[in-house]
Amino acid sequence: MSHRIVCQFSCGAASAVATKLALAEYSDTHDVQIVNAFLANEHEDNRRFAQDCEAWFGQQITVLRDEKYGANVLEVFRRERYMKGRTGAPCTKILKRRLLDNWKQPGDVMVFGYTAEEADRLDDFRERNPHRPVIAPLIERGLGKEDCKAMIQRAGIELPLMYRMGYENANCIGCVKGGEGYFRAIREDFPEQFEALCVIQDDLGEGSYLFRNRTTNTRFSLRSLGDGPARRNEKLPACSFFCEMAEADLAAAQLGRCHS
Ligand code: SF4
Repeated sequence: MSHRIVCQFSCGAASAVATKLALAEYSDTHDVQIVNAFLANEHEDNRRFAQDCEAWFGQQITVLRDEKYGANVLEVFRRERYMKGRTGAPCTKILKRRLLDNWKQPGDVMVFGYTAEEADRLDDFRERNPHRPVIAPLIERGLGKEDCKAMIQRAGIELPLMYRMGYENANCIGCVKGGEGYFRAIREDFPEQFEALCVIQDDLGEGSYLFRNRTTNTRFSLRSLGDGPARRNEKLPACSFFCEMAEADLAAAQLGRCHS
């Protein structure tokens, strides 16, 4: 029997289009699966977007949901005692990658939602993981992020609210991969979620601080984030099972180089 083709749908425009293209190409010949990780910290409009995309795909999305931490990144930070480490964020590892590892089967071929702008990331991944077969429909067709958004809109689907507010993707509200400009925007738009992260940092202390003052070379908390430009469109990596896999591998390789 042929391998399963597994599309990871992250409630983002790129993964939606990559899924649609993979279904068009492989559903006659392969078992194509669409998988999504539910996260309690994403905007609720992401669920509306997932439903609309499900209708567009003409196929159900398998939603995986962590039980141990209530699919909640705040609970992960609280219990794991950190927010971002040298090899990535614990939330995406625990709430996404671990679920997928339990769900996947040997021989699965993964569909990456990397866009044309991210071709070098795909090259990196393939170079380091020659044994992991992956398909990247957007890169194969030269489709960029803006193309994907336009395709979604042409299909009559409203983009997730986070995009419409100007954010780069539909990650969790207050994604720990964000920078200072991104968090100023979150502080303005979602003060409650911002405060919830501050409370966790109050408890975890300096080790959990995400930012560094370049002048004094000291780390500082979200609560101490000063005034400045709010950047909703700050470049922020999409958070998907497979991007995380690729990024964790890259970080591990870089750490290895630092230590050698
Ligand atoms: S979107 Fe950001 S905060 Fe949410 S799981 Fe992914 S890395 Fe963590």
